[in-house]
Amino acid sequence: MTNGSEAERRSREVENLRAVYQSLQHPEAQARTRQSHRGKAAAGVAVAGLLFLLGKAKFLGFLAGVLKFKTLATMLLSIGAYAIEWGWLFALGFVLLMFVHEMGHAIAMRAEGIPAGAPVFIPFVGAFIAMHGQPRDAAVEARVAIAGPVVGSLAAWAVLGAGLALEQRLLLALGHTAVLLNLFNLVPVPPLDGGRIAGAFTRTYWVIGYALGIVALLVTWSPLLLIVLVVGLWTLVQRWRNPVPGYDSLPPRQRTLIALAYAVLVTGLVATLSVGS
Ligand SMILES: [Zn+2]
Repeated sequence: MTNGSEAERRSREVENLRAVYQSLQHPEAQARTRQSHRGKAAAGVAVAGLLFLLGKAKFLGFLAGVLKFKTLATMLLSIGAYAIEWGWLFALGFVLLMFVHEMGHAIAMRAEGIPAGAPVFIPFVGAFIAMHGQPRDAAVEARVAIAGPVVGSLAAWAVLGAGLALEQRLLLALGHTAVLLNLFNLVPVPPLDGGRIAGAFTRTYWVIGYALGIVALLVTWSPLLLIVLVVGLWTLVQRWRNPVPGYDSLPPRQRTLIALAYAVLVTGLVATLSVGS
């Protein structure tokens, strides 16, 4: 994600909400009015569950290293901004789920030996984590890129599952939003995660991805998607014109594995898209 100007950002806010997360407003509003008590309890369970998982993975020391002031500050800012529209419980859950996605990238960067920046949240745009260093090749870039949606989707499905088990509409709405969020990030256009993954299996896939992106834009009229496509076009031209020697020469087996992982993840998300909507 790239930063736009203040004015652009402000004008995008309302549109983004409608375009990307349109379907949530109703279930969430109902959840707030009808089941605010159960909602709080269930969200508490979800937060406790997440904390338990993080602790279980001996993750806390690593987390402390990643959680810098700008992460906390921008997280709180995002929670506040989303809370105006959706209520603070939903906002808290949504930002935590974005954080889990970013942690997926952070873990992969650490595994690949690439220094990671602290995650930064931008209200109504999303979150990103900077990579301080160039990946060795397209496969490393793809692995770092897919780790976010993999971890993010597992969290989304866990929340969906909890929502189904507890018959809790707030959790269902949160899980559904997280499924949408991770699927959106897998649109195969750079700088989205999907674009970085697709770069490893075939460059021509970017053309297909770009076409898909344009269709999605015509359907949703999402300003966020428009920005992604503009930045994506620029990135594509740069990579075509200035190829890094050896960057894209991967063994066919590696390409196939990355393509397979991508296909499985997208299929899983599409299959669970209607759950909780
Ligand atoms: Zn990501």
